Amino acid sequence: MDNCVFCLIAEKKLNSKIIYEDDISLAFLDIHPVAPFHALVIPKKHIRSLSDVEDFSLVSHLLYVCNLVAQREGLTKGYRVVTNVGDDGGQTIFHLHFHVIGGRPMNWPPG
Ligand code: 5GP
Ligand code: ZN
Repeated sequence: MDNCVFCLIAEKKLNSKIIYEDDISLAFLDIHPVAPFHALVIPKKHIRSLSDVEDFSLVSHLLYVCNLVAQREGLTKGYRVVTNVGDDGGQTIFHLHFHVIGGRPMNWPPG
């Protein structure tokens, strides 16, 4: 998909700190981390958001990768996985991604 930042990252046309890769997915560090560890897990295929997923076995695989990178990072005290969907969900990059955030306690709800 032209003009999609995460497609460009998946195609290695845009630099990122990749921490995991396989045939269908990629994990890399967020450029503006909100916690000591902040990675993004994406499908290599362009899918706009969770609302546009047709094959949920792909989502299962992406969640497997989320846990894998968290385990590798040694986040034994826990971590958070988030996907923002659409404008009200706070999505800014319209290529499906899961945030994996850890290394500090999380507040819920925010504030
Ligand atoms: P969203 O708001 O769509 O859920 O999250 C998009 C995330 O992508 C943000 O946390 C933002 O910091 C990150 N991001 C945006 N552009 C880039 C980029 O070019 N490289 C990397 N590594 N992360 C990016
Ligand atoms: Zn894309």
